[in-house]
Amino acid sequence: MKTEKLYEKDSYLRSFDATVLSLETVGEDSLVVLDKTAFFPEGGGQYADRGTIGGFEVSDVQLKHGEIVHTVRGALSLGERVRGEIDFDLRFFRMQNHTGEHIVSGIIHRLYGYENVGFHLGDGDVTLDFNRELTREQLDEVEELANRAVWENQDVRVCYPSPTELAALNYRSKLDLRENVRIVAVGDVDVCACCAPHVAKTGEIGQIKLLDFMRYKGGIRLHILCGEWALSDYGRRYEQTLRLSNLLSVKQHELVEAVSQILRKNEQMKQEIKALRRDRLTLRFKGLTKAAGNRVLILSPDEKDLVREAVNLSVSLCDGATVALAGDDQNGWRYAIGSERIDLSAVSRKINAALSGRGGGSRTMIEGSFLAPLEDIKSYFDSLDLSSI
Ligand SMILES: [Zn+2]
Repeated sequence: MKTEKLYEKDSYLRSFDATVLSLETVGEDSLVVLDKTAFFPEGGGQYADRGTIGGFEVSDVQLKHGEIVHTVRGALSLGERVRGEIDFDLRFFRMQNHTGEHIVSGIIHRLYGYENVGFHLGDGDVTLDFNRELTREQLDEVEELANRAVWENQDVRVCYPSPTELAALNYRSKLDLRENVRIVAVGDVDVCACCAPHVAKTGEIGQIKLLDFMRYKGGIRLHILCGEWALSDYGRRYEQTLRLSNLLSVKQHELVEAVSQILRKNEQMKQEIKALRRDRLTLRFKGLTKAAGNRVLILSPDEKDLVREAVNLSVSLCDGATVALAGDDQNGWRYAIGSERIDLSAVSRKINAALSGRGGGSRTMIEGSFLAPLEDIKSYFDSLDLSSI
């Protein structure tokens, strides 16, 4: 490696001067290796730093064949002295979240012995994977302890122990390497091998919030947010809560009760509407007289759940079968067919085959759907003696 990693020595370095050691031009981009850099390359689940080199935007920084390669949106030249500027706000927010991740993983390791087996630090989104499951109660305790570590404003220290010291050290993310292992100790909560930039004092993290978690590969995937990202997230959630409380004209801490009430009332209204529809159906078919053949009753598309009821209103007044249909030609027709004289289970397959339908049921009632147009369905039953098919 030709490049001096300034970010390993000073994670607060915002700008630096460097020399272009090697250069490759790809379209309008320059792929640049410098003699030193404060840009942290993508790795270990964390995105690369952003900023500018020589006044041009740095769109990516990758570790390639042991070299830190900056993708710069502009033309630089070999041997040129350039100034690098880090987007330090973004870097600092990542430092807050990355150091917060150490605290959470360190505490879970100490309390339960579980390992962090995956880490992703995106923009405003941080996930940690653990190899065993944890409950909400356990995570609540972890969150409490993690924030205490923040309030205590403990030191975050970096060291490079000798191979002997390293062998005796109890730390997370053990590597096969024995030399030049960068150890990061976060107060009394975590010791871990790590190359990324961290804050110097835990108080700079601000706050650590454990959010949703789900089962993942035999363990859990946990979402967390720290520092400014947690504050922004709080702001967005507060805004939502405020708007909801204004919409519902209730205090914010009464929202759950208010929404539960609305849902209960909604359910009650659904039942009432169903009962009213049933009454309307009864009224509509009240005057039915005795029919010699089959009878087809057409219901509106929103009465699909009433086809059985409609059949029941007619079945004793009908020598053939009563066919109740709800739907339309485009989406198909829900049907119920009832009869007191014909064994419908015996003819159901033939009816479905004739009308592009599916469904079945008992001797006295079959249900399903037809894809045939209404005119075809009507003329099929008008001319048909079901006992003869
Ligand atoms: Zn780290």
